[in-house]
Amino acid sequence: MHDFVYKGKSLYCEDVPVERIAAEVGTPLYLYSRATLERHFSVFDGAFSAVPHLTCYSVKACSNIAILRLFARLGAGVDVVSGGEIFRALKAGVPPAKIVYSGVGKKRAEIEYALQCDILQFNVESAQELELISQVAEALGKKARIALRINPDVDPKTHPYISTGLKKNKFGIKIEAALDEYTKAAGLPGIQVTGIACHIGSQITEVSPFVDALKRVKAFVQALSARGIAIAYLDIGGGLGITYNEETPPHPSEYAGAVISELQGMNCTLILEPGRVIVGNAGALVARVLYTKKSDAKNFIVVDAAMNDLVRPSLYDAFHEIRPVQITGAPGIAADIVGPICESGDFLARSRQIPDLARGELIAVMSAGAYGFSMSSNYNSRPRAAEVLVSGDSFSVIRQRETCEDMVRLESIPDYLT
Ligand SMILES: *Cc1c(COP(=O)(O)O)cnc(C)c1O
Repeated sequence: MHDFVYKGKSLYCEDVPVERIAAEVGTPLYLYSRATLERHFSVFDGAFSAVPHLTCYSVKACSNIAILRLFARLGAGVDVVSGGEIFRALKAGVPPAKIVYSGVGKKRAEIEYALQCDILQFNVESAQELELISQVAEALGKKARIALRINPDVDPKTHPYISTGLKKNKFGIKIEAALDEYTKAAGLPGIQVTGIACHIGSQITEVSPFVDALKRVKAFVQALSARGIAIAYLDIGGGLGITYNEETPPHPSEYAGAVISELQGMNCTLILEPGRVIVGNAGALVARVLYTKKSDAKNFIVVDAAMNDLVRPSLYDAFHEIRPVQITGAPGIAADIVGPICESGDFLARSRQIPDLARGELIAVMSAGAYGFSMSSNYNSRPRAAEVLVSGDSFSVIRQRETCEDMVRLESIPDYLT
């Protein structure tokens, strides 16, 4: 459920007409509903209230510091995948003791930064990374709290680009090798083993892959315990899917129920790393129609948002519902909704049944809150969109639209060309 609803013939975000925001802020723009964000977080987090747990929102899904602050105020921790995300999280007021750090390619400087900030845990993805973390920690006179990210080799039945828990994926340490790695970790001077982690993929719409992964992790924790290695934090990652189109993902309470019953008899604090399920349906990308083109073969609606703003349709052939911001009663047509970028892959929707929109009308690309702005780029030298947070009957710009000056700020022309 989200808070983008029609009132009469106009689309609103909470109590503000989307048209008004577009008129004031310009397009394209990302729009988020505070009520939806808070409700989604609370429903998810609340579903685990029966067990000791920490919900670590996955920063990469939507990284704006205002949104991180909003979750931090609800008690959230965060899952980060870079030093930049640690920086954001701290800026937003997330306590370091609630930060877990995943990712296959942590650099030395990032590891030092994370250690100096005293984050809760590194989720380690390789033997070499483990050694480097130990060295860096030792040099700083610290002990790094670590979990090994286990690759449980389960098929999450999602798009291959967003599956991460299969043997062929680059993530994690294969479960067969992990026992030896843990034994090694326990003996390293800069390391304190605190947890175990897994994350099997994203946009998962069934409970069974999570349960399968958890069963493997559970058996593994028992094997560790037999070797005298205790696990305090069991991090089961993120990945719960949302409805973009016709998907019927489990409700967080169903997911939580399955996880909690699998945890019986385990004496750990659960860590969860939800991203998409919290923010996906809490955001929309608003764009204006620039031109319409009709040929014998196709109808095109050219809008001012493009693949640089929202790459998911181009990258994963992902479906996003497209809504007219004003209902005009225009007849329906089948059209491709495309952006201005010079790539045939630049589309937001293809062969979509949509009202015959006219120049100047607005559309809302729904379910764009996750992996929307955070994956946006400046391709074709397009300044990145503004981000706006609605709260009740008011709205705030939480990231200004970039300017052309912003785009060239870090560039320079060498002397020999002057
Ligand atoms: C991306 C990611 C998440 C969040 O995934 P969602 O599908 O958005 O819930 C959680 N943990 C890790 C390690 C990730 O890389």
